Amino acid sequence: AELDTLDLIVLAVVLVGTVAYFTKGKYWAVTKDPYASSFSAANGAKAGKSRNIVERLEESGKNCIIFYGSQTGTAEDYASRLAKEGKSRFGLETMVADLEEFDFDNLDAIPTDKLVMFVLATYGEGEPTDNAVEFYEFITGDSPSFTLDNETPLGNLNYVAFGLGNNTYEHYNSMVRNVDKALQKLGAHRIGESGEGDDGAGTMEEDFLAWKDPMWMALADKMGLEEREAVYEPIFGISDRDTLTRDDAEVYLGEPNKMHLDGTPKGPFNAHNPYVAPIQKSYELFNVKGRNCLHIDVDISGSNLTYQTGDHIAIWPTNAGDEVNRFLDIFDLTSKRHDVISVKALEPTAKVPFPTPTTFDAIVRYHMEICAPVSRQFLATLAAFAPDDESKAEATKLGSDKDYFHSKVNVHYLNIARLLSTVSKGKKWTNVPFSALIEGITKLQPRYYSISSSSLEHPKTISITAVVESQDLPGREDPFRGVSTNYLLALKEKQNADPSPNAFGLTYEIAGPRNKYDGIHTPVHVRHSNFKLPSDPSKPVIMVGPGTGVAPFRGFVRERKKMVENGQSVGKTILFFGCRKSAEDFIYEKEWEEAKQVLGDKFELVVAFSREGPKKVYVQHRLKEYAKEINTLLEEKAYFYVCGDAANMAREVNSVLGQILSSERNISEAKAEEIVKQMRASNQYQEDVW
Ligand code: FAD
Repeated sequence: AELDTLDLIVLAVVLVGTVAYFTKGKYWAVTKDPYASSFSAANGAKAGKSRNIVERLEESGKNCIIFYGSQTGTAEDYASRLAKEGKSRFGLETMVADLEEFDFDNLDAIPTDKLVMFVLATYGEGEPTDNAVEFYEFITGDSPSFTLDNETPLGNLNYVAFGLGNNTYEHYNSMVRNVDKALQKLGAHRIGESGEGDDGAGTMEEDFLAWKDPMWMALADKMGLEEREAVYEPIFGISDRDTLTRDDAEVYLGEPNKMHLDGTPKGPFNAHNPYVAPIQKSYELFNVKGRNCLHIDVDISGSNLTYQTGDHIAIWPTNAGDEVNRFLDIFDLTSKRHDVISVKALEPTAKVPFPTPTTFDAIVRYHMEICAPVSRQFLATLAAFAPDDESKAEATKLGSDKDYFHSKVNVHYLNIARLLSTVSKGKKWTNVPFSALIEGITKLQPRYYSISSSSLEHPKTISITAVVESQDLPGREDPFRGVSTNYLLALKEKQNADPSPNAFGLTYEIAGPRNKYDGIHTPVHVRHSNFKLPSDPSKPVIMVGPGTGVAPFRGFVRERKKMVENGQSVGKTILFFGCRKSAEDFIYEKEWEEAKQVLGDKFELVVAFSREGPKKVYVQHRLKEYAKEINTLLEEKAYFYVCGDAANMAREVNSVLGQILSSERNISEAKAEEIVKQMRASNQYQEDVW
């Protein structure tokens, strides 16, 4: 492509602006300030912002852009942390950027003295996250076309890469691997090693920390950066809005956006705009020995939401009141919890992660992941604000010693408030700037559930099947409790006016901001998936779903039952289900019988009870017993589905299937594994695992 005049001007400006750059800071104040106010005003409003990377870097006086491809917020969080560290330790002018908000055809026009970082999560079966799809297709495409006509298109590009993956999935970290490969092929220069974090091994945070230090050293070396003592600089300014109270209509009390605040929420409903859906019905599928499993029916008839059997629904949870109180207390915010504040980004490229004006209570309750595992790096940052020397020393030690941190924090599942309280022996951390909390704590994430209803049968009702997360841990008085599932449990208790709702559940603010969720509602959105029944109903299906892994298969079986009731014929439908004991946690037992009555020979349920006999029996054992039938069905082009636990079950089922094919077809295991791989590639083998 030819350079046009505008490109030349942009380039010239970029060059002038950047020549000074690695001269450490002194010119930067000058280039940044004039833009600050105009950008703050536009902050949050996507409209009107340029999609041109070079332009955006230039306009905002930045020399390092950190792109994230994030699904659950972790990659975004790591990107923010890199931005923060780059600035405080090395004086880089960093900005964090959502891949979705940029075009990439001028990656080639980014000058060599600027830096691009990629923090890329791999999702599901080696897929890019929703916000990274376009970028991924562009960069790994056959011949991406760039604005300049360079022989090595990205010869000027310096980049850094970190991936977030899960080694229990076949395509481990394929996003970062493929992007890295594509960038190198296009001539770009990677600085340091490409990092990989492994959620499967539970070492994501430590992998990230272990990767970033050598990366910074390589970067400093290559770009001539000088390290300085990191000083905390807030990214957000908090201002008291004394003239407002929480009763004023313009104050957000947890509403996710303006439409919800105004009481006029409209579709499209999606990950940025949930539908506040009525809960039609909620009940317990079982409740034994402190383990309970919920069935929730969500009514979407009042919205334009649609779903297909096999899709996912996202629940937007609220934090438990107990944990909100604990958090506000340790930072000495209890007396100010309902004060109205505004939060402004002091950095033109930073985004305030929730709408304001709002209250501390609403931020903590609706927008912060306050119960999640604590980042060791974040704790190290907070050490500077410890209430006394002893606490500071302890926080510093925890922040710098991986094993010590693990033994004191991870094994007890401490969240930030519990941890700080332990570190300071209950003393309040009054000096922590609220900005540091907004920066250091992830946005509260919606949780996904595999829809357990059939859209053919109930197009406007979505069912959820979820086990409530609760774990007794040594050294803790109360059990660890998952955020979303205990919120759902509390909804269920409220809806059914259960005689003795659990005390913890009582603390949830079920009625929601301004009682908008009363009666009983919860915010939701739907995520479409590729986990689908064959379009030809006569094809056989084999489903493996122990525990709540059976959720989508309840939908599949009900769908086929409905088809037969509608006069269609369906292929063999075989379900492998497993649980502990037939009398304890055998969920939907009656429904399977009803399905059998309609589907007859076409439906077969094979169960594995792990705690009934002398030996533990799991679904994979039962699969082996059915080797012959499975092989025959696969020869008839059956679809094979696995849902549930990614760490062990899905992996074992995968290898058991290989063994079955090998023995039944008399082929080598390697050959059989190859066939399973091909089945995956052609969607004949589908997984929905978490
Ligand atoms: P969370 O609070 O998110 O905790 C989850 C886990 O994180 C804990 O068990 C613990 O291991 C860890 N953790 C959290 N906080 C800490 C801490 N402070 N310290 C140490 N560890 C911590 N679940 C179902 O029951 N049914 C389904 O059909 C279903 N479908 C899914 C489909 C998809 C595509 C995905 C991605 C997930 C699905 N899940 C399903 C899982 C579900 O999304 C939730 O992860 C699950 O319900 C737990 O949510 P929670 O908020 O209660 O727990």
